[in-house]
Amino acid sequence: MNYTFALVGNPNVGKTSLYNRLTDSSDHVGNWHGVTVEKTGKKAVTNKEINIIDLPGLYSLTISSFEEEISRDDILSNNNDLIINICEANNLARNLYLTLQLLELNVPTMIVVNMMDEFSKRGKKLDTEKMKRFFSVPVFSVSAKYGFNRSGLLEAGCDYVAKFKKNTAELPYLKKLPLNEVREIIFDNIIKSGLESQYACIKVLENDKYVIEKLNLSARQIEKIKRLGDYESQIARLRYEYIDTVIADVIANDNEIKGNINKFFASFTEKVDIFVLNKFLALPIFLLIMSGIFWITFGFMGKFLSDLLNNGKDMLIEASLTIVSNRVPEWMGALLAYGIIDGVGSVIIFLPQVVMLFFFLTLLEDSGYISRVAFMTDGFFRKIGLSGRAAFTMIMGFGCSATAVMTARGLEDELMRKKTVILTPFISCSARLPVYTAIAASFFTAGSVPLIFFLYLLSVIVVIFLAAIFEKSPLKSGEAAFIMEMPSYRMPTAQRILQIIGHNAKTFLIKIGTIVFTLNVIVWILGNFSLTKGFVAIGSGDSIMENIGAIISPVFSPLGFGNWKAVTALISGLVAKEVVISTIASFGGAEAIFVDSLAAICFLVYTLLYVPCLATLGAIRREVGVKWMLFGLTLQLSVAYLVALAVRIVGLAFSGGILNGIATLLIVLGVFFIIAIATQHIFKGRRCVRCAGVCDKCR
Ligand code: GDP
Ligand code: MG
Repeated sequence: MNYTFALVGNPNVGKTSLYNRLTDSSDHVGNWHGVTVEKTGKKAVTNKEINIIDLPGLYSLTISSFEEEISRDDILSNNNDLIINICEANNLARNLYLTLQLLELNVPTMIVVNMMDEFSKRGKKLDTEKMKRFFSVPVFSVSAKYGFNRSGLLEAGCDYVAKFKKNTAELPYLKKLPLNEVREIIFDNIIKSGLESQYACIKVLENDKYVIEKLNLSARQIEKIKRLGDYESQIARLRYEYIDTVIADVIANDNEIKGNINKFFASFTEKVDIFVLNKFLALPIFLLIMSGIFWITFGFMGKFLSDLLNNGKDMLIEASLTIVSNRVPEWMGALLAYGIIDGVGSVIIFLPQVVMLFFFLTLLEDSGYISRVAFMTDGFFRKIGLSGRAAFTMIMGFGCSATAVMTARGLEDELMRKKTVILTPFISCSARLPVYTAIAASFFTAGSVPLIFFLYLLSVIVVIFLAAIFEKSPLKSGEAAFIMEMPSYRMPTAQRILQIIGHNAKTFLIKIGTIVFTLNVIVWILGNFSLTKGFVAIGSGDSIMENIGAIISPVFSPLGFGNWKAVTALISGLVAKEVVISTIASFGGAEAIFVDSLAAICFLVYTLLYVPCLATLGAIRREVGVKWMLFGLTLQLSVAYLVALAVRIVGLAFSGGILNGIATLLIVLGVFFIIAIATQHIFKGRRCVRCAGVCDKCR
């Protein structure tokens, strides 16, 4: 006999942990969006084989995101013999909101309350027997992280399925709704749609677009239902009232916290928080920790390891050149050495950073510190429509855009996460610094430090400014309440840290590496081949890239560096920002390229703000998809252009060319106008994800 059990619950309640326990697998757990899309595993108990499906988290059956859609469709599909609804003990009230909707649906459901370890540490007790009586379904309490009676749970599920084809739950608040009246109005539609009758009636009263569409209701029917009264917000209220009744009865405080260790940890958290959340100490501690991580990841350790890999790469390139020299045509050797080995190498040298960054991030996240960071920085970030959790990603953006973008995965709000991913590349990463110093050194021996400082400041201003503009656009963030419970400080487990590092290193090498490598090879070929002359070296002026540079260089004339050499340097800089310098060097240095220091400054501003590198684009695509990557790319190119232009206008005005300045200013405004209209069309309305579709905004 085969059964299918689906794991359903809010995000981060431990569905994947339970899934791993039940199926003996080791799928990735954690706060990562998109990690769990849909997985199936098998487990045999006694004489049955059970398929277990790990579904993406959702807050409500009235859905607001694509991942939630997957879950809802699966729940409604009748493919499952049993829904295992996982709730988190510490947030039981919020979790039960979904539970009630599942019970309303009348599919066989079993409730598993997870994280009992933390719950009891807090000195609380859960009465599962009472819960069973409230809901008339099996209720278990477990700690998925630390193990529990697996076969007991699965066998209870099988027994329940064998006995009942429907839930037996009687939810008292449903009597207050005119469900029979609705059923009369839409009876035929329900039969045709195949939807469960009670669910359909409730959702129609809730004005659920999906169900209304599925039922194919006529305008007259909708009118009739409207006349029954406005039940939309009332249903949510009734559910919450019932939840309050349940909670009051099933949760009790256990006044004697058992064991000194638990007492110690409970008070340990409070003691540490006296410092960590202190008005005066919070910021210095935060900066200290962040700069420590920064220094290790991108500073001495990171640099040491990257240099090591870089040397290895150079040696490999040397070796390959020696081995193949005179054996194959010159271009083939160069392609192998500089295109392929260098291309793969340029991805691999990021690896130490990825590993260290995720090591620290997991440490901060699992220990509970990142919640405090989010809490502290939230005020500021909220003002510009981002969440406090973005602080980590943004700060790490000063190190490396590509790896920082990956760390945005922990952001719970989908739109804020996307915006963070799009904005982080504007932060000046460490690879841009050598370009600043090299070019600044050739033009401003004395003034290069203020110039570099200006560039860093500019990058921060641009991020804040863009975020503020987003807030005035359809990308405005929802005004969801800031629900933030401070978790107790915990010891992260080594196993989980390894798992996350492994997962992200793999993602970086395979998912991002393949595209970066391919693009690098393409860029190399463009830079070293001529359509007519075949293989030429960069610097000759004949390569395809240099031809492209020549063709598009007039576009950059308003910025003051409309010559093919500068533009070619920018294109080659897509591989990695440092390459800008080597390309410029192959053209005879910065003095040979830029007519004056203003042109050089505009070039640096452009370098700061345009696409950081192909690896970053790959990471953005991986995190938020192609559409958003293209949006980010467009934004990077246009913002870089506009800001560089603005700098030039100001520069020209100072040096006397005021007419020239005004003319270019008009162009700026025109382009800006077009971009504003284009973005308006691309992005349409959306809903907030946090409130489970019950806040005023979403209605
Ligand atoms: P999902 O989003 O529902 O799939 O949740 P995950 O399985 O990814 O778990 C989210 C987080 O909760 C992870 O950090 C888990 O280690 C942690 N977690 C899961 N189950 C338990 C538990 O029983 N006790 C504790 N303390 N943590 C747990
Ligand atoms: Mg999961």
